[in-house]
Amino acid sequence: MYCANCGVKLADTEKRCPLCGTEAYHPDIERPEVSPLYPKDFVPKREISKATLHIILISLFLIPILVTLYCDFYINKTVTWSAYVALAIFSIYIIVILPTWFKRPTPAVFVPIDFLTILLLLHYINYSTGGDWFLSFAFPVVTYLGLIVTATCVLLYYLKKGHLYVIGGFFIALGFFMDIIELFIMITFKLDFDGWSLIPMIPLVLLGLGMIAIATSRSAREALARKLHF
Ligand SMILES: [Zn+2]
Repeated sequence: MYCANCGVKLADTEKRCPLCGTEAYHPDIERPEVSPLYPKDFVPKREISKATLHIILISLFLIPILVTLYCDFYINKTVTWSAYVALAIFSIYIIVILPTWFKRPTPAVFVPIDFLTILLLLHYINYSTGGDWFLSFAFPVVTYLGLIVTATCVLLYYLKKGHLYVIGGFFIALGFFMDIIELFIMITFKLDFDGWSLIPMIPLVLLGLGMIAIATSRSAREALARKLHF
């Protein structure tokens, strides 16, 4: 017999259609009492819960941190090199694993957190070398890069339109980033102005301006979209 609702072929023993649940009835067929073909309760596959997975991941990151700290302390009676290893592993956890805790990780939070983690690492290197490290170069350069990358990610994530303006702006900011690198190299290493940073800066700024020019013109925008097969 067939289901009166969906038309699927049914065994004579079936009391209900297993597909749509419609009651099956045929006046000429007597149906013996048998156990149904499919189990009544659907038993889902066992999955590792998210919390368990995170505990496993945290352990995987904590074990090498604790082992290196212990070995270092055991050999040197104080913490020396192991702090770099520990902080580097911690940074990887923050950058790669932490966003997976959240359903929709927003770049407005996680991109700044990533850069703050890198700055923390730089500060520790500077502190542990007695302030002789090049923090006056690394700190402003990483901060500037962090600001422009965060602004770009956040705008691309939240804006529905005008992505070409944002990317154009990013390239212009990246062009000035070259000058910032040169400026802080001059300050940190007491060098004279050489102007090498203009060589990558000019094409980057021109590229950014070009993108903004395309973004302002509707026909140019459409031509670009056709070229790139959007
Ligand atoms: Zn049916």
